[in-house]
Amino acid sequence: MTLIILMLTYNINCDKMIIPIRCMTCGKLVAHLWEEFNEQVNRGKNPRQSLDDLGFDRYCCRTLFLTQKDLIKDIMKFDI
Ligand SMILES: [Zn+2]
Repeated sequence: MTLIILMLTYNINCDKMIIPIRCMTCGKLVAHLWEEFNEQVNRGKNPRQSLDDLGFDRYCCRTLFLTQKDLIKDIMKFDI
């Protein structure tokens, strides 16, 4: 619960991303690479190749990035 609150607080202040700071399974720092991953994918790069280039070898971290969806704007509508 604390982690979720920290994530929401961070996102309310920067209004950019809502992704865990660390992988919840292995503990690897992942949040600092989220925007770079998004930029590469938006430029048309294959997500698989992008994850390989960013150094994500474990399935847990790869799943975190591939299944992430930014919902902060949807949540903010409810003024929590
Ligand atoms: Zn991981």
